[in-house]
Amino acid sequence: MAAKTLVGRLVSREHKREDTVVSVRGASVGGPGLTVIAGPCAVESREQVLEAARLVKAAGATILRGGAFKPRTSPYSFQGLGEEGLAYLAEAGEETGLPVVSEVIEASDVPLVSDYVDILQIGSRNMQNYALLRRAGKTNRPVLLKRGLAATLEEWLLAAEYIMDAGNPAVILCERGIRTYETATRNTLDLAAVPVVKAISHLPIIVDPCHASGDSAYVLPLAKAALGAGADGVMVEVHPCPGEALCDGEQSLSPAQFRELMDQVNKMSPVLGRGVVSQ
Ligand code: PEP
Ligand code: MN
Repeated sequence: MAAKTLVGRLVSREHKREDTVVSVRGASVGGPGLTVIAGPCAVESREQVLEAARLVKAAGATILRGGAFKPRTSPYSFQGLGEEGLAYLAEAGEETGLPVVSEVIEASDVPLVSDYVDILQIGSRNMQNYALLRRAGKTNRPVLLKRGLAATLEEWLLAAEYIMDAGNPAVILCERGIRTYETATRNTLDLAAVPVVKAISHLPIIVDPCHASGDSAYVLPLAKAALGAGADGVMVEVHPCPGEALCDGEQSLSPAQFRELMDQVNKMSPVLGRGVVSQ
């Protein structure tokens, strides 16, 4: 059932019946194909992101990810390389031909990050940072909007509404798990969000099984479940050597695990009627 406050809003199915397809540099999210966004949680060095980009490209990924401004729980954790990291990510995107996505955490950084990336990511912790949403809404860059740690679907879609109301129709939603009483996984993947969002909104929705589970062992089954539930794609963290990662190593796929994921997704695609859009 559509939440009342969403009826007639820009995000709603009533406002636009057809699915929105977000296109960027030869890649598209929300069309007939599946999107696989892959790359390290954080850009750690030029070599690390180039290696990650080459391996995800070779395995068939659609879009490269890599954080340069990291919103870490502890102020003492690695905070990202900032603009230097964005430059390395952009170089890795150029070399492999993959569009790139990276997180922006401050409204004032939106122009800087937009200079380097194809897609702006707004993370869970900032889902209700309305100044940031409005600023990203003023750019011509698609925005990947992650669900807040404890946000309802209605709050999440209203956050997307801020971006669209500011003038940017290209929003990709990303379910990444929510806080519940369960502690066995880092968060609880809300798979029902996928068909519910599809019913009430025309925006594309992807799933991030890495932040949802916090453990690389669970990423493959959750990714398959997400695609089975109708997600337009998945976003996964991949590190050339997860044991050495400066951020989110436990939930990052090794190169072999990522190849296995791509293999399984490709095997599922005839059943789903949707192949992966490789670059
Ligand atoms: C990330 O994608 O690395 C990230 C910080 O995700 P989230 O905002 O979902 O925690
Ligand atoms: Mn991460």
